[in-house]
Amino acid sequence: MNTAIYPGTFDPITLGHLNIVQRGLHVFDRIIIAISHEADKKPLFTVEERLQMLKTLFSAESRVEIDQFKGLLVDFLKHKKVTTILRGIRTVEDFEYEYQMTNANKMLDPNVETVFMLTDGIYGHLSSTLIKEIALLGGNIKAMVPDVVTTHVQKKLQAMQNKPS
Ligand code: ADP
Repeated sequence: MNTAIYPGTFDPITLGHLNIVQRGLHVFDRIIIAISHEADKKPLFTVEERLQMLKTLFSAESRVEIDQFKGLLVDFLKHKKVTTILRGIRTVEDFEYEYQMTNANKMLDPNVETVFMLTDGIYGHLSSTLIKEIALLGGNIKAMVPDVVTTHVQKKLQAMQNKPS
């Protein structure tokens, strides 16, 4: 089976991420979406919440598996017995970051290959950060994320507003 691991923060998943998965399924038999426990970032959603959102979103797609990992991505790949990483690229900035990461992963494990898909133009501006900013300012994110995400973001923001400061 031709499997790829699509790693990321997915805080939360956007239509841009979803587009990469859908197109990736034309190339790979199976995709494992792997949520990273990224220590540097302060996520809005816990890893558990992101897992649940992704599991709901892909419940009808048997070729997509949802998982999470701590530590090095190359170790997670070994653990899953997969050698291909799938990543999306929107901009030149993405490319520079991905170029570094790809070469670092290659040095850590020469068996690993990274495959890139360029974003479909209409999703080129979408990022999880942008979506969180818009939602925090009261904007409508419906056209930018899957429906399940809109619901979760609204609930999360309400919970934050109701929290005593
Ligand atoms: P990370 O913190 O690892 O960059 P993200 O969740 O931000 O995690 O992104 C995961 C992957 O999806 C990255 O390869 C990123 O470039 C890609 N990606 C993010 N947004 C989009 C988008 N709108 N279109 C295509 N690819 C995207």
